[in-house]
Formats: sequence, C-alpha cells, structure tokens
Amino acid sequence: MITVSEAFTLLQQNLPQPSTEERRLIEAHGYYLAADVLAPEPSPRFTNSAMDGYAVRWSDVLAASKNHPAALRLVGESRAGGPYPDLVGPGEATRISTGAMLPPGVDTIIRVEDTSETAERVLILAAPKPGQDVRHAGEEFEKGEKLLPATSRLGSRQLALLAAVGINQVPVFANPRVAIIGTGSELIVGAEQELKGHQIRDSNTIMLLNAVQECDGEVINCCHVVDDLAATVAALHQAMTGRPAILLCSGGVSVGRHDHVKEAAAQVGFTEIFWRIRQKPGKPLFLARQGDTLLFGLPGNPVSAFMCFTHYIRPVLAWLHGQIFTQPSITARAGETISNSGKRTNFMRVTITQQPGSVPAISSVAKQGSHMLTSIVLADGYISLEPGESVETDGLVEVFLL
Ligand code: AMP
Ligand code: MG
Repeated sequence: MITVSEAFTLLQQNLPQPSTEERRLIEAHGYYLAADVLAPEPSPRFTNSAMDGYAVRWSDVLAASKNHPAALRLVGESRAGGPYPDLVGPGEATRISTGAMLPPGVDTIIRVEDTSETAERVLILAAPKPGQDVRHAGEEFEKGEKLLPATSRLGSRQLALLAAVGINQVPVFANPRVAIIGTGSELIVGAEQELKGHQIRDSNTIMLLNAVQECDGEVINCCHVVDDLAATVAALHQAMTGRPAILLCSGGVSVGRHDHVKEAAAQVGFTEIFWRIRQKPGKPLFLARQGDTLLFGLPGNPVSAFMCFTHYIRPVLAWLHGQIFTQPSITARAGETISNSGKRTNFMRVTITQQPGSVPAISSVAKQGSHMLTSIVLADGYISLEPGESVETDGLVEVFLL
C-alpha cells in the first residue's frame, strides 16, 4: 500500500492534458480562459463627457462666477450616439450628454447645475477646473494591454469587460468529459423498481454524476453493470468510445471474488498506476491510465467513493479547467481534541462553525462509518490525521472543504 501523498504525487505525474475550445461570450459563463486576453482597442475608445452639461473651451470660462458669468454662444449639441462634428470656436459651446463624444476644439465640461441657458446662449456660473469631467480615450487601458490573464473565471463582470471591447468569442478550457460506470449485482438502479430483501439501492451513481457536474465536468456516459468480467469489459469499451478524460468506476475494486474492475481495465488496455492507499475511508482506490484517459476505480461504499472523489478527482477536474491541482482548504481551530488511533491516514469528517471575528471552529462528526452517508451530509469538511496523530482543543488545523 502507498501513502496518501505518494498517491497524490503519482496522480499529479499522470494528469491528462486539458483541452481547449472557442466559446461565444453568451455561452462562456463559468468557463476559464485558456489564454490571456489583450485589449483590441483602448478604453474609453474616444474622449467623451462624464456629465450632462456643456462642452466649452477652458480659456473662455476660467474666470466665470455667479456674479460675472461667462456668456457663450450655443452652436449645437453632442449627444450619446449623435456627435457634433464641427470645430467649436472661441466664445462658443455645445450641449453635451454623459458619454457623448467631445466635439473638436473643446476641453472642459460644465455641469448643467453650474449654468443657465437662455435663447442661443449659455451662462457659465462657476469657475471650473481645466479639463474637468472629461474622460480621455485610453485612460482606463490602451490597446494591447492585458485585460484578463489565462485561467480567469468568466463571470458576469469579466464577460461585461469582454463585450465592452468587442470580443465575441474566447478560448476556454473545455469541460472535461467524464464517463461513469457503477458496478454491483446487488444494486437496484432506478427508483421505480421493487426492492428485494438482499438488494441495495444505488446511491453512488446519482452522487458521482452530480459531484462531477458540481466540478463543471461533462458526464458523457453513465451506466450500471452486474459483477461479471465480460459485462464490465464491454461497459469499459463502450465508455471509451466517448473519449473521456476521466472514467469513474464505482465498486468492484477490492479483493473479493466478484470484483472485476481491475482485470477488466487491464483487458481494455489500461496500465495500473496504483492500487490501495493507506487511508480511511477509501483504501481500495485504483488508478490506471490509457492514453489521455484516467480510470479511477472507486470503492463501492458510498462515503469511500465520495471522499476519494473529493480528495483525488476534484483536483483533477480543477486542473483540467486550468486551475491549481489541489484541494480547497481553510485553517480552523479544533473545538475539541480529535485523534486518529487507527493505522491509516484518516479523512475525518467535521462540521465547521463560523464565529464572527474569530477563526472558524471544527467538531468531528460522531458516526464516521464508510457506509454512513449521513457522515458526509452532516459534514462541511474533513481533516487528514496520520496514524497516532491528535489535534488538541484550540489547535489550528487545515480543513479541506466539501
Ligand atoms: P464493493 O466495493 O463493490 O465491494 O462495494 C462495497 C459496498 O458498497 C457494498 O456493500 C456494496 O453493496 C456497496 N455499494 C457498491 N456500489 C454501490 C452503489 N452504487 N450504491 C450504494 N452502495 C453501493
Ligand atoms: Mg461490488
């Protein structure tokens, strides 16, 4: 058996290459950029007004006040979508709206509040600052500047920025393709079937399907096979036709006479990378590779399957989206002494209590059996304790988030 960190290193050495694709902006939300995006144009694109008011020459209005207003001849209007094209000469002004292009000749905006308009004339009632309320072309960024670095997540704000500079399509990391095969002759798949006394309801399929989707994976195939070598080989062959980056099998990976996943994987051409990790839950985890496909043989116990998914597969899905290959974690304080008296690394499930102004506190979930789904439903995260290791009350500990 290998250790948790050896398993993680082996997995890291065998990561599949992320694949990328072009996506239209309206279908890119939640994806991660596969390349830096440079500004194709400056922002603002043209010099414009920050206020509704009048566009003037500073030299005409520098001494204006309420008692000695500057009177300017109104020659026209520049509005959003309707610029004033001609030169505004000395002693002249135009009306201007927010965002409208500055006409040639002017350099300063006077807000409506500091003016009084009469027929064909505007009185300037306050001395402005030179150049006030003008937004200059390129003041936010110039053409060619980096707008978003590769691996940025595209949310509403990022998409708005891209749309603003006229980018309609971006290169992103494609959602990784994942196939799922649940094994077990004892399983009843589908809620409508009648349950015999010795049968078990399938919970891993719906769990893994949704766990993959929570990590932005694309489930391309999801099926169930009975514990039979030929049927398992056929299911693996079928799943491989979809060229998955990840093939998830649940169950059938221990040492029982009816566990066929390892043998079937070998027959389909997979090479074993590791089998069995000194950890609890999830000891029988199996990893194999064929080309750009990683096959994970997850233990059948639902909690074991989920913890293996969370600790090993979720980081792979993050990596395939261009993100860091690691588990998200926080530092928390132990609300009680928590110990591992066993012989394997223990992923102990804990609840996290947030307290305003202090470090979050954790407390261990009472029933931790690998067949007890409540242990992951009640938990917010888990800590990893080595054999014989304890965290004392108030000791700080890294908590991996579920
Ligand atoms: P296995 O790893 O195939 O030996 O399965 C270990 C335990 O997990 C057995 O008790 C199985 O009945 C149970 N199990 C396997 N697959 C599932 C599943 N899809 N849903 C719920 N329990 C399962
Ligand atoms: Mg089984």
